[in-house]
Amino acid sequence: MWVTEHCRWFATAIGIGTVGGLLMIGGITLAQNPLAASDSSAAATAETTAGDKPTEYVPKTKAQLRKMLSNLQFKVTQNEGTEPAFNNLYWNNKRDGKYHCIVCDQPAFDSKTKFESGTGWPSFFQPVDPKSVGYKNDFHLFYKRVEVHCSRCGAHFGHVFDDGPAPTGKRYCMNSASLKFYERKSAEKE
Ligand SMILES: [Zn+2]
Repeated sequence: MWVTEHCRWFATAIGIGTVGGLLMIGGITLAQNPLAASDSSAAATAETTAGDKPTEYVPKTKAQLRKMLSNLQFKVTQNEGTEPAFNNLYWNNKRDGKYHCIVCDQPAFDSKTKFESGTGWPSFFQPVDPKSVGYKNDFHLFYKRVEVHCSRCGAHFGHVFDDGPAPTGKRYCMNSASLKFYERKSAEKE
């Protein structure tokens, strides 16, 4: 009796896992996220570790975001706000690891591409993957700037400028409030 029940439970669990995996792959296809797609098999096992793999993302309502984010995080990511220079979490963070989107946890930047810009905001010369961010022209000031946001959830990250260092010449000027840092484990170091 126990065996029968156990087998039935197991079959149900497999079924749910498969459906979950398919749903997730569908969502990722829509979001056109090759990073997440390559990790879909691992993600389907529901054994992903924060900081290693993109986790499944279910879009949140503004009310849910208000609850899960601080006032500053909400203002920056949802209303394209800007945090104070030199008075934010990561502008001077020199630790080795990855910066994920604070809203949906998609990897966005790597410390290997971080550089000292002197601006007081965390600055990178490229995103972790070209498809991990999206762009939009921003005319909030008197000149055109290129706004940068998360390609998966649309959270505002900051702006990109053409005065960055080699090899890209780009300066991704980001808000710490849009990001969550995950220190790289020694096993992952190259
Ligand atoms: Zn996001």
